[in-house]
Amino acid sequence: MMKKEGYFGEYGGAFIPEVLQSTFSELNKAYQAIRSDASFWQEYYSLLQTYAGRPSPITYLSKISNILGGAQIYLKREDLNHTGSHKINNVLGQGLLVKHMGKKRVIAETGAGQHGFATAVMAARLGLECCIYMGEKDYIRQRTNVFWMEQLGAQVIPVKVGTKALKDALNEAFRDWSQNMATTHYVLGTACGPHPFPEMVTWFQSVISQESKEQIQDIAHCMPSRVYACVGGGSNSLGSFYHYLENEQVKLIGVEAGGKGKGIGQHAARLALPSATTGVCQGYKTKFLQNEEGQMMSTYSISSGLDYIGVSPILAHLHETKRVRFEAATDEETLQALGLLMKEEGIIAALESAHALAIAFQEAKKSPKDQVFLVTLSGRGDKDIFNIAEALEDSQWEQFITDKAKEYSVRS
Ligand SMILES: *Cc1c(COP(=O)(O)O)cnc(C)c1O
Repeated sequence: MMKKEGYFGEYGGAFIPEVLQSTFSELNKAYQAIRSDASFWQEYYSLLQTYAGRPSPITYLSKISNILGGAQIYLKREDLNHTGSHKINNVLGQGLLVKHMGKKRVIAETGAGQHGFATAVMAARLGLECCIYMGEKDYIRQRTNVFWMEQLGAQVIPVKVGTKALKDALNEAFRDWSQNMATTHYVLGTACGPHPFPEMVTWFQSVISQESKEQIQDIAHCMPSRVYACVGGGSNSLGSFYHYLENEQVKLIGVEAGGKGKGIGQHAARLALPSATTGVCQGYKTKFLQNEEGQMMSTYSISSGLDYIGVSPILAHLHETKRVRFEAATDEETLQALGLLMKEEGIIAALESAHALAIAFQEAKKSPKDQVFLVTLSGRGDKDIFNIAEALEDSQWEQFITDKAKEYSVRS
């Protein structure tokens, strides 16, 4: 059967305005060229080694595996990368591609600010001009990230139109791109959006499983029985699964945000729960959480990185073909897993990553001891201190925030 370019089963494609057609075809050409050029991957990996701290290690969770009494659990430590998550892999890859295309400026949109932060770091390092779009609401709420982006030399623009949220920032970024195509590249942060982004971002993130497949065989002397990763847009999970896709004996599990429950607006589970339907939005075809009229529903998650209405078209396809199984972890299960990892192993996980841990821990309990579970720890939790301290209802923390606010009001 002929494969339609940019499609994964019925999902994917590039539904883009006519003004951007030539930019996308230029991008696609440049991507195909670097993909078949082994020296590009070498240049990319060398940058990751010397700047971002790769290879990231694998850590065996001896105490937790023992406590749970089942499968042996190992973590792939993307939290140890420069900037604290797997996002640096993708932005450095696209940054190098931009240099190869001879462009001088990058733009991006960001919600919680993590992708904008990573993009600003990359732009500073590679000498690119950088402009980050944020909905005004996020711009105000995510002051810590905005502060760093500005210190790194990026221009951060609060978007004041529409609902002042992520999707309005996305529209503004696309408007900018269509006006500055000759000089500018749009750095998409996850394995979503129009072709070639899902495929390209997956390719850059595949460095995770390229390393882990060798590392786990060195350490555990076998292939993993299962690989777990959390799923927002899908980039860390696809990168974690990529080199195992052909090994049918390795089970792959994507974990979405189960939030507070299964009702509409209470979660962001597009594939684990049956609520999402196929549609076209934001330039590509996938499963969206939408109503019958195609209007996007509200989503919720304790972790901003998993709170998204769409999902990678590649994952939608792998779900349909049953190569990847999807589960949802609730906020409560996630916080429990986060606590266990801190207390028993001294590792502070990002809230996103703790979703994958929650399901892996539950399933490890019910599995034989000779099984090897590999869980991608997509990021570290420092960034989540405000959310975690609030969720754990730490009274001293509340006092600390209140006192800080008082200090400032006295000064001004
Ligand atoms: C952004 C983010 C995610 C979600 O994005 P994916 O594209 O699904 O990987 C997960 N974990 C962390 C730590 C993140 O920063």
